[in-house]
Parts: sequence; structure tokens; C-alpha cells
Amino acid sequence: MLYDNHGRQLRYLRLGVTERCNLRCFYCMPEEGLNFSHRSQILSFEEMERLTRILAEMGINKVRITGGEPFVRKNIMELIENISTIEGVDSVNITTNGTSLIEHLPKLKAIGIDAINLSLDCLDKERFLKITRRDEFDQVMDSFQALMDSGITTKINMVVMEEHNLEDIIPMCELTLQHKVSVRFIEEMPFNGGGKKFTPITWNARQILAHIQGHYPNVEKLTDAESSTSLNYQLPNAKGSFGIIPAYTRTICHSCDRIRLTPKGELKTCLYDGGSFSFRDFMRAGATDEEIRNQFRTLFSNRAKDGFEAQQKSSNPFESMATIGG
Ligand code: SAM
Repeated sequence: MLYDNHGRQLRYLRLGVTERCNLRCFYCMPEEGLNFSHRSQILSFEEMERLTRILAEMGINKVRITGGEPFVRKNIMELIENISTIEGVDSVNITTNGTSLIEHLPKLKAIGIDAINLSLDCLDKERFLKITRRDEFDQVMDSFQALMDSGITTKINMVVMEEHNLEDIIPMCELTLQHKVSVRFIEEMPFNGGGKKFTPITWNARQILAHIQGHYPNVEKLTDAESSTSLNYQLPNAKGSFGIIPAYTRTICHSCDRIRLTPKGELKTCLYDGGSFSFRDFMRAGATDEEIRNQFRTLFSNRAKDGFEAQQKSSNPFESMATIGG
């Protein structure tokens, strides 16, 4: 089993499978995109599967496939299917922008994908274009409908940004009245790859909740799972629920069970740490499975207590969520 130096067991791998994305969300990356790594610098499927298998042997039982946009990576379904058959992996989830999800849904359902997080920051075509700089709103809404029809557990991720989508908070909440979906409001973080100047947010978790309660005073607090990153609620008589993720104010670190591997195979023991070790280079230099296991143990024995400490120790400027694996 893999524990950190604060007694937290690691159970959940977030695997970035590509840095590339077909959207250009202004809060995530610059308009012209990033200086993407050469293909040879990105982990192969075999390397990703090997690290996942080793981590599964160490007690990791949940894997999230993310990126960049997972579905822009060639043959991604092959990787997803292989990961879902690794012994010990009980749950495979995907985070996607939904622009090309529909064609993959039947296969994802057949593989038994447990849940899909759809990133959707607003419910308006014009605002979507401004935020993502791409005209893909209709495709994403079609994906949402297809997800609802498919019965796959679905969450919507909406990053809350003053002057950009505050008017979408209540309509997003109201989606849960008709649909069995969990909408999660995420505090904006500084991981934008230099795409914009980050100013500390005022729309934090508390403010978002107060805003919703202003419209729906009888919001019910739900019980949160032990390692949940979201504080979860429900509108009266809703089919779905909503959650708020204090990603910037970081009040949830005490129960963090996550491991992040970037598309280049760097370990992040915390989203806010600069990236401590290259498992790509380690594997390519011939490391054995046992050496890899020991390296995970060593790195997690020096993990920051929370995102503030990790940020303090980090010398890296805030890279894009696309290269981290959001
Ligand atoms: N392309 C996929 C998608 O759009 O869902 C997966 C990668 S994306 C980086 C993963 C999640 O990170 C998305 O929900 C996105 O909104 C979120 N994200 C990106 N930059 C962020 C930031 N600066 N602050 C908060 N969330 C961010």
C-alpha cells in the first residue's frame, strides 16, 4: 500500500494522456496554445499501463484519464480499455470537453467506464465561444444529452469566473432538477500556462454557495464521501445534485488520496507542486518494477501537507492544467 508522510493512503491516479487540446479555454492556456512537448517526450501507452499496473499493485483502485483532451490522442480507446482490465483497478473515469465524445460512447459503455466528467463552463453559445475560443457548443450539448441517454454517471465541471459565467451558476444548478447529473462548481486556479494574469479570486466556494442559497434558501447539504474534493448539495426535489470544489482556497487537502502523472510521466504529489520526478526517464533508464515502487514510496514520504505548502516549495511558474493533467 502507498501512504504519504501524513498518513494518507493514495488510491486515486489521475493520468494525463496528452497535453494537446482542441479548445483554448482562456483560463487554462494561451490563445496560440502551448509549447507542446515532442511526441517522444510523452509517455507511450505501454509506459502508462506499466505505471498504472504498478500503482494498482500498491492499492490504487481508481484511475481518471485526463489531459489535455483525452480524445485527441490517437487510439486512446485502446489505452482506456487496457487500463480498465488492470487487476485492482475498480473504477475508470474520464474527464473530457465533450467535443468528440459521442462517437466513443457505445464503446465506453461496453468497456464499463464508471463515470464521465464533462467540462462545460456555461450554457450559452456566445459565452462558450468567448471562454473556449472555439465554436463547439452544440457538439458539447449533444454529448451532454447523449450522456444522459446512456445512463453513464455524469458530472459537469464548471469553472466559476467573475465577468465570464456567473449568470450560468443558477441555470447550471437548475439542470439538476431535470437531469440525474452532478454539477460541480470549481474555483478558478492559477494554472493557465501564462495565458492570462491571475488575480486572486473573489468567487470562492463560500461565495458560490451564498449565491445559490440566495436563489434556493432550502438547499440541502449532502454527506460527502471521505476523500471527496467537492462539498455536495441538492436543490429541493432535484434529480441530480451539485458540488463546490474549493480548488484554490484548498480546504480539502487533509483527505487527498490523489496521485498525478503528467503526460510526460512526471509525478505531482500535489496539484500545486512543481513536478518532482520523471518516471519517464527512470523507466527509460531501465528501472525495475521494484525500483519504481520504491521511488513512489520515497517521493510520497516527503509530500507537502497541503496545497499551500506545496506551492511554497515549488519553483515552477503555474503551468497549464493541460500539461499537468487537470
Ligand atoms: N480536456 C479535458 C476537459 O476539458 O475536461 C480534460 C482536461 S481539462 C485541463 C480538466 C479540467 O480542468 C476541466 O474541467 C477544466 O475546466 C479544468 N481547468 C483547467 N484550467 C483550470 C484552472 N485554471 N482553474 C480551474 N480549473 C481548470
